Amino acid sequence: MADKSHAPMRKKEKKDEAADMTKDGKEVKSEGQKTEDNGEAAANNGTAANDQNGDFEVEPMELPPFEIIAGDRIDPLVFRFQFKNVEYSSGRNKTFLCYLLDKGNPADGLYKGYLEDEHSGSHAEEAFFTQCLPNYDPALKYTITWYVSSTPCSACATKIAEMLKARRNMKLSIFAARLFEWEEEEIQAGLKALHGAGCKLRVMKPVDFSYIWDTFVENEEQPLNLWEDCKENYEYYQEKLADILQ
Ligand SMILES: [Zn+2]
Repeated sequence: MADKSHAPMRKKEKKDEAADMTKDGKEVKSEGQKTEDNGEAAANNGTAANDQNGDFEVEPMELPPFEIIAGDRIDPLVFRFQFKNVEYSSGRNKTFLCYLLDKGNPADGLYKGYLEDEHSGSHAEEAFFTQCLPNYDPALKYTITWYVSSTPCSACATKIAEMLKARRNMKLSIFAARLFEWEEEEIQAGLKALHGAGCKLRVMKPVDFSYIWDTFVENEEQPLNLWEDCKENYEYYQEKLADILQ
């Protein structure tokens, strides 16, 4: 309910930010992180700057502390931490979503990039539809692939499932490094709803991590050295997911 009442305002913020990101995703990303670290001070600075010159320019300092960050390539250290398929995801309180989007129009090509959220703000899954696919055309055929650090929360899963049922021309595959709170009944119901709506849902294999590294990470031409237990952890999560979806 609270979300709904704030929806127009949040949409506007996203729009402004999205415009910034197209200019230079990387810059926004690093400055966005600074804002998170020092949100209060940054907000104060932003206000002071506005009072002084009266001009309203969108400066990174004015970004609220918990917003969607979008970009082209992820920092390698951030990738290694956020996508690590450990069993207990302590400290990983955000979702990273790498996407490939094909609108079925050869002239358009393939869109790709990533989104990053905080669980306390708007979620990356929702942001994908508002930022990357704001104009839905029922005449097109959409093929969407997500590589997410963890599976969606129940609210996102339910929303996406409804959307997929309504938009039959949209195919979504979700590959996840970890299962988010998979022991919760609500979460399991959300994953089942996604599966039932035709979403392809799979846990990332070691080869998927290498693919993301090559495609979405500032890899500096270096190969990814997979962490210990990557394969075992994949098997652990894959087994859990199979149990949930059977
Ligand atoms: Zn969510």
